[in-house]
Amino acid sequence: MPPLTLFERILRRDIPADIIYEDAHCAAFRDIAPQAPTHMLVVPRMPVRSLDDGLKSALAGHLLHVASLVARQEGLSDGYRVVINTGLAGGQTVPHLHLHVLGGRDMTWPPG
Ligand code: AMP
Repeated sequence: MPPLTLFERILRRDIPADIIYEDAHCAAFRDIAPQAPTHMLVVPRMPVRSLDDGLKSALAGHLLHVASLVARQEGLSDGYRVVINTGLAGGQTVPHLHLHVLGGRDMTWPPG
């Protein structure tokens, strides 16, 4: 068995995190190093490594749905940004798929 990823350990509650949403397929918790006043991560329970790891479209759709749901739950009615860093050049540091949901400030473009 491969070792559990950091995010699997958070979802199993081996590691503490501020979990704000949970269902059978995913959970959302606050990022430990927020890059905006509101910064949450939506993480599938399945250990999918990245967007390039055979992600099924039903789960992809569900994760996007939950991103919009937690954004609403957190009052981001003016807008927000959803980011999926993918692979080394994409800036991914945790090898377990996650959607960043950022809001509470005006976002700039292009991103860094
Ligand atoms: P990425 O660089 O796209 O892979 O994003 C990984 C994110 O996980 C970063 O924004 C980190 O701040 C966040 N992170 C790392 N460890 C934890 C943790 N223990 N609890 C919550 N967020 C974390």
